Amino acid sequence: MYRSVRTIRIIISLIAMGVPTWALIAGYNSVLVRMQILTALLAGVGLVLVFWAVVTLIYGRIYCSTVCPMGTLMDCVSFGSRKARRRSRSYRYRAPSRRTRIVFLLLTFVSLLSSSAIVPTLLDPYSAYSRMVSEFIGRPAGIEDRSVEFAIASMSTAVATALVVIGVAWKNGRLLCNTICPVGTILGYGARRAYFHIEIDPDRCISCGECERVCKAQCIKVSDRAVDNSRCVVCFDCTAVCPNGSINYKSGRYQLGMPMLRKLDTSSPTLDIQKNK
Ligand code: SF4
Ligand code: SF4
Ligand code: SF4
Repeated sequence: MYRSVRTIRIIISLIAMGVPTWALIAGYNSVLVRMQILTALLAGVGLVLVFWAVVTLIYGRIYCSTVCPMGTLMDCVSFGSRKARRRSRSYRYRAPSRRTRIVFLLLTFVSLLSSSAIVPTLLDPYSAYSRMVSEFIGRPAGIEDRSVEFAIASMSTAVATALVVIGVAWKNGRLLCNTICPVGTILGYGARRAYFHIEIDPDRCISCGECERVCKAQCIKVSDRAVDNSRCVVCFDCTAVCPNGSINYKSGRYQLGMPMLRKLDTSSPTLDIQKNK
């Protein structure tokens, strides 16, 4: 079942990347452009922000696995990388970069509050993506007509962005999504406690490590049977490869079948009483 869901997810993401790309080249205004989060924030379209807030609280970061064209571009690079690399060089769990995420998020907000568009424009994934499309496809096609200085500055920024995005995605999948992207950081706060989320069944998991190896968000820690849902982009890659159906997209939490093996709940009042004895 998850293989089909993953295939549908990939098709949607390719359409959601293709339509705005075509719209950018042809000079049309696509609804998928208006659905981009930071673009909506900059334009003051509150309804789009509320929509994505609710969707994220229910389903997790599906915006990142379907609608964001930069995320899909990273997935295409990751796919090429995984095909080219040996199995032993697949992904491994990476500890969260909380400080980096907060620093870039604060930088974005401070810039927005001080009415400076430079940082948000550089960090907004849709702005960065559209700049690359305009420079690499729009300009050679003769659509753009600007001053030489502006053209050089814009092309240099697009080349630098492409090098960073492709270089990081090739080696570390969605690392940029979980470090410098302000949209990913904001969505991560909602996705952490999303109603539907990726979860490992500790009773069924055989510790084969397949899910951790394919997770381009590097947020699965098989040794702890844990998934960091604030970084999970709900791509369904892990659920599609599990040989045992042990990792699922579900509501609620798994409980170990043998109560003696359950982790201690340190917030439990019972434990406090025992500690104070
Ligand atoms: S984290 Fe940012 S760049 Fe990555 S998919 Fe989400 S919005 Fe796009
Ligand atoms: S945990 Fe699974 S669904 Fe989430 S990003 Fe990793 S592979 Fe994709
Ligand atoms: S792929 Fe399935 S069985 Fe293997 S480690 Fe992951 S959850 Fe466990």
